[in-house]
Parts: sequence; C-alpha cells; structure tokens
Amino acid sequence: MEENDYILNILSGLGLAINEKNNIEIVINYPIFFNKKNMKYEISSDYKINIQPIGSFLSDFLNTDFDNYNDFLNLFNKYSLSLIKHTTFRKIFNCINYSETDFKNKMLNLLIKNKNNYLKLQNQTDMILDYCLLNPNAKAIKFKPIERLYVLRRISPNLILLHENRSTYYSINLFSSYPGKYEKEIYDFLSKRNNEVIDFDLILSNDISSILYKSICSILKQEVYLKKCKNCGNYFIATNKSYNYCDNIAPNQDKKTCRDIGRKNVFENNKNSDPIIASYYKLYNRKAMMKSRYSDIPKYVYDFDKFKRIGKKKLDRYKTKQITPEDFKRWIEKNS
Ligand SMILES: [Zn+2]
Repeated sequence: MEENDYILNILSGLGLAINEKNNIEIVINYPIFFNKKNMKYEISSDYKINIQPIGSFLSDFLNTDFDNYNDFLNLFNKYSLSLIKHTTFRKIFNCINYSETDFKNKMLNLLIKNKNNYLKLQNQTDMILDYCLLNPNAKAIKFKPIERLYVLRRISPNLILLHENRSTYYSINLFSSYPGKYEKEIYDFLSKRNNEVIDFDLILSNDISSILYKSICSILKQEVYLKKCKNCGNYFIATNKSYNYCDNIAPNQDKKTCRDIGRKNVFENNKNSDPIIASYYKLYNRKAMMKSRYSDIPKYVYDFDKFKRIGKKKLDRYKTKQITPEDFKRWIEKNS
C-alpha cells in the first residue's frame, strides 16, 4: 500500500479513519493559522496526522457550544475536513488568504448553515449515552450497555444517528486497491502475492453521524471510557477506567491540568476525612513553618527534617494498616 494512496483515501472521506481493533482514530487535516506578517488567515500546505483514542471526536463534538464562535473555531481547526467536504474546503481555502473579518464571516456562514444539524446530533448522542450508559432505566439496568443500544435502536426509528449512518470498511493492507466486483475476480485478486487479508479493518465514515455511531459502540463496549471531568465538567476519553480528570489545562490556570488539580483534591480529601491524618498534617505544617521562619536556628531545621523523614514512613504504615491508629496517634502526640 502506498502511503499517499492511504492518506488520499482518508482525505477524500471525512479526514478521519477509525481503527476499531486498536481503538484509535486517525485524523488528518490542514492546519489553518493566522499569519501575523500580512495579518491574514492562511492554510498550511502540509497535512497533519493526529492519532487519538476512539471517541475523542465524539467528546470534542459534545463539548462544543455551537452558540460560541470560538468553540466552533477550535473544533473546526481540529476537524475541518470532517465538518466540510474536502472539495469544499479546498475551494474555500486553496488560493485565498483571508483577512480576519473575511475569515470570520466565512466561518460564521458555515456555522449558521450547519448549526441545526450539529445540535440535533449532539442531542441524539446525549440521549443515547444517557439511555445506554449514564442513566439506564429500571427495565434496562441489568443489561450490558451495548445490549441497551440494541434495544434503543429497535424502539427508536426516529433516532437518525442509529439508522442513517454510513461507513465503508477496508482491510488495512488492501486499503487503496480495487479488488473487482465479482466473486471470481475478488478471489483472483486475493490469490496474488501481497493481497492477503489481515484481520483489522479501517473504517471510513461518510458522515458525522457515522463517526459518532462507531464511537458510541466502542464506548458502550467499554473498550474506551467516556468520562465527565470532575474539575472542568467536559467530556473526555479516559484510557483507564479509574481516571476522573482530563488532561487539558484547567479553567483559570496557566499550566496546571485538571489531572494535576484532581490529584491535589484527592490528597486534600484524604487528608480531611481522617482526623488522625488531619492532625498529622497540622503538625507537619506547623513544623514546616517554624523551619522556614527560623531557618538560621538548627533545632527547627533538624526537628522538621526528622519529623518529615520518619513521619512519611509512619503515615504509609498507618494507611496500609501496619500500625494501629493508637500507635500513630501516640507518635504524633509525642512529637507535638
Ligand atoms: Zn477537565
């Protein structure tokens, strides 16, 4: 398979291919950037390939507030070819550099034209995830999420997302070749050297609803985990079931991610929920303060360093139940 053919096939679709076996999405786009020299929007002549967990498009799409221009712009920058046809994209961006106003007008036109469809897809995705995963009703509760989807699909003919999605499947190494139309032709094609079917497929979606549908299936099969970040409230795809915080920069922060903040919250919660641990940290902070205030007095420096060194071991042993609460409490009181 020629790499160029492979790329061209993805580009002529929606700029997004799904590899279900590895639970990944391959996104190709041409980044749009603002050239400060001539104050114009330009499109990069080189494409960019981004590989991300399957479901990332879905969570980005659900997180987008289509009443907010900047939100739409962010989504567009990441998935331009999934939102408009490659030929249309080329027509709009190929040889023209846009001024800031012209670019904004183009984008707003695009948004106005598609907004209703995006909102409809957002609503339907929300509804499906709610029924199948987040809030199953009493009848559904003892069934698996993917079984609930089977039921929902049969009882909801109006959910176009479940009925009108279209995709094309390719065996990855035969991706760009045409095997012919008839049975014999296709077997002849396969009997040639190099034309061997290996079992993972690449899926090219023909519309957004089919990307969403494939993503929903992977989420409901619980191969990837769709979570709502406990700090910023956005959806994200977690690679591990236990992750509750996303990796994005947290709101009102320069560098810290939600996960950094989450770690701190868990730490704070642990610290406050156990009175003995709370008294340990209270003493810890007092000694640390004395050290920093009287850093020229060796007694305070030594006292804190020793407390910290031994205290950490005591705390770990208490948490893992190698010493009793009474032992730990006595040690804290002795060092107060
Ligand atoms: Zn977050």
